[in-house]
Amino acid sequence: MEDCLFCKIANGEINSEKIYENDYVYAFSDINPVAPVHVLVIPKKHIENLNDINDENIEYVTEIMKSIKEIAKITNVYESGYRLITNNGDDADQVVKHIHFHLVGGKFLGEKIIL
Ligand code: 5GP
Ligand code: ZN
Repeated sequence: MEDCLFCKIANGEINSEKIYENDYVYAFSDINPVAPVHVLVIPKKHIENLNDINDENIEYVTEIMKSIKEIAKITNVYESGYRLITNNGDDADQVVKHIHFHLVGGKFLGEKIIL
């Protein structure tokens, strides 16, 4: 996708603070963190959101899910706990239309969804 911010971050065209990377997944610090740990985990292939997942791209989503615990270890929240959130579509206020999972932690997050 030519004009997608997160495609450009995943391919290095736009700078970001890398936390983790493999062939399928790129994880980087959110520019506007809501907690001490706030990482965005994205596929290195353009997938708009959950509604856009199919047999051809599901491998990327699987790899994201497998990477989460590694990213939690790297950011020191594996033991303390964390939330994984994806905002899907307009009513969820999905701003960037490239699927991303917010990994948030590093403090007690309370009972309410905070994103
Ligand atoms: P959404 O609201 O779509 O679920 O989340 C988009 C997230 O991307 C927001 O938390 C926002 O702070 C983050 N974000 C937007 N632009 C950039 C950017 O250029 N760099 C980084 N690192 N994060 C960004
Ligand atoms: Zn994209």
